[in-house]
Amino acid sequence: MMNRRQLVYATGAALFAHIPGAFAATYDLIIRGGRVIDPSAGLDATRDVAISGGRIVAVEASIAGDATETIDARGKIVAPGLIDIHTHAGRSKEGPPMCLQDGVTAWVDAGSGGADNVDAVAAIARGAPQMGRCLVNIARTGVVTPSGELHDLSAANVALARGAIERNRDVVVGVKARLSENVAGANDLEALRRAQEAAAFFNLPVMIHVGQNYSPLRALLALLKRGDIVTHIYAPGKNGILDDKGMLFPDVMAARRRGVIFDFGNGVSDHFDWDTVEKATRQGLWPDTFSTDWSTVSKTTGVVDLPNVMSKFLLFGMPLSQIIACVTVNAARCFPAFDDRGTLNLGAPADVAIMELREGTFEFVDNYKGTRPGRQRLFPSETVLAGKRVAHA
Ligand SMILES: [Zn+2]
Repeated sequence: MMNRRQLVYATGAALFAHIPGAFAATYDLIIRGGRVIDPSAGLDATRDVAISGGRIVAVEASIAGDATETIDARGKIVAPGLIDIHTHAGRSKEGPPMCLQDGVTAWVDAGSGGADNVDAVAAIARGAPQMGRCLVNIARTGVVTPSGELHDLSAANVALARGAIERNRDVVVGVKARLSENVAGANDLEALRRAQEAAAFFNLPVMIHVGQNYSPLRALLALLKRGDIVTHIYAPGKNGILDDKGMLFPDVMAARRRGVIFDFGNGVSDHFDWDTVEKATRQGLWPDTFSTDWSTVSKTTGVVDLPNVMSKFLLFGMPLSQIIACVTVNAARCFPAFDDRGTLNLGAPADVAIMELREGTFEFVDNYKGTRPGRQRLFPSETVLAGKRVAHA
C-alpha cells in the first residue's frame, strides 16, 4: 500500500494544489517528543509517532515531514491506547465517551448483563466510539445488588446464556461469574461449572469475580482453564489468596503457570486492601492486568480513572513499563478481539494514550478507606482514537 508521501511523489503535488491543504502534509498526525513506552516492542525512549489513515506509520527518534495535526508530547508518556478488561461501561451510552477521555480505547463490560438484559449492553458496545465488548453474566439477571444474582441457582441457566451469546457473537468475548459468598452463597462451584459449560460451546474464556468466597479459592481455581481470568485478586477476608499466616496459597501460582490470568479489579468495596497487595506482591504475585471495575460514578470513588489505578502499583515498586504492559499488550492478549491492539507496531490501529507522570504528593485509597501516600501519579492527558485526536469533554 502506498503511503501519503509516496502518493504525492508519484502523482505530483501540483495536481492537488487546488485542494487547500488536503495533500499538503506528509502525515495526518505526529505526536512529537514524548517518552514512548510500548512494552509490546520493548520500547521506552523519546520518539515521534506518525499516523496516517488511522494507522501507526512511523515510530522514530525524529520524524521529518509535516502533519495536518501535531501533538507536542514533550514531558509526557505516549503509550498504546489503554485496554480496561473489567468495566461496567456498557450500562449507559454516557459511559464509553467518558472513559475514552481517560485514555481507554477498548473496554470490556464484565457481566453487567445476563441472558435477560445483555442485549442492551451489547447495543451500547456496538455504539461506543472505541472498541466495546462484553461478558455475559451466567446469571440471567446480570449483576444484582445488594442481594446477589446467584443465590437462586436457577438463574444460572446455560441454555439461556448460550442463546444470549449466539445473538451477540460480534461483541460478546466471554462469560462472567461473580462468586463471592454475598453473590452466590454456597452455589459458587456449580455456578462456575455452568459458566464453563456456556463458554465452552463457543470456546470463550470465563472471568470470575472472587473475594470473601464460600468455597476455598483453590476449589474455584481448579475449575479454571488456560485463558480464564480471576478478577479482584487482592480481596482480603476468608478464602482469598493468602492463608492465615499471610502466605500465598501455592495453588495461586500454580494456576498462573498453567495460563490463568490474574486481574486487579479496583472496584469500590471489598475488592482490595493495601495489606493484601503488599503481602502478595512480596511473594511475587503481581497483576497480569489492571482493571478499574469502572462505572460512570468512578470519578468520585477511589477508582478515579485507569491511570490512577495503575499508579497505585508504583507504590510497590512495579516498573512503569510493566504497569503499562498490564493495560496494553497483556490486556490485548486476553481476548482475540484485541489482537492488533495494545501496541504501537507499524500498521496497528492508531489508538494512543498520552499521559502525564506528575511528581508531587498524592493520596491513594483502597476499598477500606485505607490511604497511602505516593510521590508520582499518572494523569490522562490526550487520547488518540483511530488516528484522530479525541476532543476534551
Ligand atoms: Zn465488576
